[in-house]
Amino acid sequence: MLNCKQMSEMGSIIIDGQEPWRSKMSVMMHLSMCKRCSRYMQQLKLTSQVLQQSRIEADEAEIERTLGRLTRWE
Ligand SMILES: [Zn+2]
Repeated sequence: MLNCKQMSEMGSIIIDGQEPWRSKMSVMMHLSMCKRCSRYMQQLKLTSQVLQQSRIEADEAEIERTLGRLTRWE
């Protein structure tokens, strides 16, 4: 059985969906019993979504398009 410390250490692996199937089971079991970790996982998921979003926004092509628009407006 995983403890909370192991859960937090595995956090990013879990979010990436790269944890092996066997540890996934114990993660799921822990999350169903531990409010603290399930909240932590939700926050981690949210954070990684926001990070992905900002990566898309910082996409070079998008920046160029934005700059291009700005130039046109001048
Ligand atoms: Zn826990």
